[in-house]
Amino acid sequence: MSFDVTVIGLGVMGSAAAWQLSRRGLRVLGVEQFTPAHDRGSSHGLTRVIRKAYYEHPAYVPLVLRSYELWGELEREAGVELFRKTGAFMIGRPESALVRGSLESARLHGLNHRLLGAAELRARFPSMSFRDREVALEEFDAGVLLVEDAVLAFQEAARRRGAELRFGVEGRPGSSAKTVIAAGPWLPKLVPRLPLKVERQVLFWFEPRTPDPVPLFMWDRDGRLLYSIPDVRDHGVKVAFHHAGEITTPESVRREVSQAEIDDVKAWMETTVPSLNGALKKVATCLYTNTPDEHFVIGPAPGSPDVVVVSPCSGHGFKFAPVVGEIVADLVGEGRTRHPIDRFRPDRLM
Ligand SMILES: Cc1cc2nc3c(=O)[nH]c(=O)nc-3n(C[C@H](O)[C@H](O)[C@H](O)COP(=O)(O)OP(=O)(O)OC[C@H]3O[C@@H](n4cnc5c(N)ncnc54)[C@H](O)[C@@H]3O)c2cc1C
Repeated sequence: MSFDVTVIGLGVMGSAAAWQLSRRGLRVLGVEQFTPAHDRGSSHGLTRVIRKAYYEHPAYVPLVLRSYELWGELEREAGVELFRKTGAFMIGRPESALVRGSLESARLHGLNHRLLGAAELRARFPSMSFRDREVALEEFDAGVLLVEDAVLAFQEAARRRGAELRFGVEGRPGSSAKTVIAAGPWLPKLVPRLPLKVERQVLFWFEPRTPDPVPLFMWDRDGRLLYSIPDVRDHGVKVAFHHAGEITTPESVRREVSQAEIDDVKAWMETTVPSLNGALKKVATCLYTNTPDEHFVIGPAPGSPDVVVVSPCSGHGFKFAPVVGEIVADLVGEGRTRHPIDRFRPDRLM
């Protein structure tokens, strides 16, 4: 059988692209070097945050709104829960990029939100230690995505629409008329001209000391950004620093987590949310693929119009997977998309 398009890499981006491409009636081959929903790339670790008041740039808001719709479609198609609405708090000083940027996006796009001062926050979450000048933007529609289930749901939905997915196979561009490269942290090997840096991240799961309410939050304090995701399936509360890791490669990454790293995150929790600082239940490492401006890469590979490159998401891409899949299907099927992707052009980086 011949295929219209080959998707290389079936992490969340490649799996979402395979789903959207097969929905358009294209004959899709997906190849993945490892197993379905494996833990060596960027799309594992049980949960991800999805939020609308995007502090990184307001231009992401229309994309994330479309993503919410498509996550709903995938849930209905797959018949499984992939999204749980929890709300979220973006905490920091009013002038921090996190609070200021979230507020700008929320106001500009009329998103459902509220700003709380330290006194209100202390009253609502007595087990969290807010400083006097700290505030929080509460976003009501934010929540949690269940990630391995999402990757498998995309793959199953693609298969049901006729896509052929092969695992344990290394893909190379050029094996069909069109190619989508969704290789995540392996992308530097396939498209070495892109200036990408792969960054190691550590995830920690803790058993809270007390059952005090602690919401989903991102907290910018003293120049470090830590986030926490409530326990959704008895794995513990997840805690991690955002963009705090060493530069590495998927082959050479340090997979073990040191005692110094554990002590560091525990010290941070002790000064912010001591109630979460209980027994460590589990750790994992995960990879970000960063661009210099931390915006995504989505578009034709420089000099190769039949190759679409997606994925370097600089640590914030999971929530966009279904809309990125839709954009890929637009580009492969029609050569253009209605979505605003100029900011993500691969050639801006070269
Ligand atoms: C710790 C952590 C926390 C994060 N938190 C959030 C969050 O809260 N919200 C959010 O929106 N995003 C978050 N992200 C980012 C998000 O998870 C990633 O942007 C997303 O998972 C990237 O998916 P991907 O498919 O591009 O990469 P990957 O999942 O790495 O998939 C790439 C795949 O390609 C395969 N591959 C590579 N080369 C080949 C080849 N030649 N042949 C065959 N297969 C190949 C790999 O084996 C891999 O399976 C987080 C990421 C991490 C690591």
